[in-house]
Amino acid sequence: MSEKRERYLVTSALPYANGPLHVGQIVGAYLPADVFVRYLRARGEDVVYVCGTDEHGVPITLTAEREGKDPQEVVDYWWTHMEKTFERFCISFDNFSRTSTPLHAKNTQLFYRKLKEGGYISEAESKQMYSPTEGRFLPDRYVEGTCPVCGYKEARGDQCDNCGSWYEAYELIEPHSKITGGPAEVRETMHLYLDLPKFSDRLKEYVGGQEHWRGQVKNFILGIIENGLEKRPITRDIKWGVPIPEPGFEDKRFYVWFDACIGYVSSTMEWAENVGEPDRWREYWQEPGTRLIHFIGKDNTVFHALVWPALLMGAGEDGEEPYELPYDVPANEFMNLEVVVDGERRAMQMSTSRNLAVWLHEALDRFPADPLRFYLASNLPETGDVVFSWREFQSRVNSDLIGNLGNYINRTLSFAEKYFGGELPRPGELPEDAREVFEDFKALEARFDSKMLAPRPREALGELLAMGRRANQFFDAAAPWKSRKDDPERARATLYVCSVLLGSIAYHAAPYVPEAVERLREFFDGPIGRVSDVELPESYRVSGSKPLFQRIEDDEIGAAEKQLSDALKGDAS
Ligand SMILES: [Zn+2]
Repeated sequence: MSEKRERYLVTSALPYANGPLHVGQIVGAYLPADVFVRYLRARGEDVVYVCGTDEHGVPITLTAEREGKDPQEVVDYWWTHMEKTFERFCISFDNFSRTSTPLHAKNTQLFYRKLKEGGYISEAESKQMYSPTEGRFLPDRYVEGTCPVCGYKEARGDQCDNCGSWYEAYELIEPHSKITGGPAEVRETMHLYLDLPKFSDRLKEYVGGQEHWRGQVKNFILGIIENGLEKRPITRDIKWGVPIPEPGFEDKRFYVWFDACIGYVSSTMEWAENVGEPDRWREYWQEPGTRLIHFIGKDNTVFHALVWPALLMGAGEDGEEPYELPYDVPANEFMNLEVVVDGERRAMQMSTSRNLAVWLHEALDRFPADPLRFYLASNLPETGDVVFSWREFQSRVNSDLIGNLGNYINRTLSFAEKYFGGELPRPGELPEDAREVFEDFKALEARFDSKMLAPRPREALGELLAMGRRANQFFDAAAPWKSRKDDPERARATLYVCSVLLGSIAYHAAPYVPEAVERLREFFDGPIGRVSDVELPESYRVSGSKPLFQRIEDDEIGAAEKQLSDALKGDAS
């Protein structure tokens, strides 16, 4: 139990509502945050966990046009799909919102007005491709043409897939609309810009002072500030997005990057309304001392650790609606994929466009959430890139989750039921070997704590596995299967001590495998808590215990691996 209750607001990156979730996203922003939040709640901290879909931007309008739908239909579909998938995976958001709500539009416009009043918004003309036949400006992704560098005929609006060159869309030769094929021409268009350079000094001081940030995040951002910041456009010529409260900008919308992070605030406001205390979002965003923690994948680092703090500084400056700055931005690295190619195992980059990915909803059709969460948590890219491997999933689940933790829980409970009718009263005196194992557990619990709060849930999981090994070792050394014959009370006392350890293992395992610990409560009657805190109960009771996990079989893994190999072949043919 923590002595002082800390206040946390935890967020996971808003997933883009344009396709299903894959495991690479899950290990970046969702699973580590959920494990962390579940642990904070168990400690009794004051924590709110929010997320929501990011529903604006050009890729969604492209999908809508391709499918002949309204953008709203596209995002409605994916919001529902994602919400259901997160629920199946036991992600425990307090609120899962979306950026197409009226509340969010109003909130985004308020941020804009505050930034404008503070003198952080300027106007400038820029060149943009325009389609006279369609009567609209074309975002870069709507434009194709001949590469000005290599002459490749199907070069994209901002980059050539053939030679890799970057350029402005108006530099393309014979540019045309990707949608209609009609010609595109250059026109001047007025846009609003965020004056990021005005925040340089404050950002440098803020980021430089974050001693607890991951080194790679902090150094990366300080390097960008050092190289000089530039003004960023916050508006686009597009009709899908948050309207801009300025005359002359009726046909434009805020750029999706501008409103996305504001979605965290909007989602917290929505949560506060849902719990019937509409002002409570202020406790988390405005009262000093909140630990605001944004879990993200590393591709989101600039927005969360640099641009977003600038927006919060600027919008909160007049003191009317002040904002706390992020306490931490744990950015995770990438996850690659092991694919079997002609009998050989190769690590490859995931590619959503080539369907070379492990989609979470499909993985959940094959396996329950717990073993997937356990494997992914043991393989979080906290310090470097990692590889997802179905074979390793099988071996970690079978050897660590089942062979270590599950085995300990199962042998303790079935022994107690078989030989003592599931009744384990507190012995008058604890056996002499109990003190040592309790001390070892307290040390492991302290290490688990500091790693989890870092927050490094993957490293904390290593301490949980060490608890399992230590508990198994205690069981083996005490050998209750021997003592139950010549000294049954001693064996019963051993099982009592084993139950104390089991309560600690279950407590520390619950953030990773929440469904299993829920089931455990159905047949294990005793405190689930740290050895360091727990008051030894009058008795433990066990009734009707069952194994908590099922082994992963070879044929299940074979089928999952074949799906990836087939996706790769389908792509090659
Ligand atoms: Zn080229």
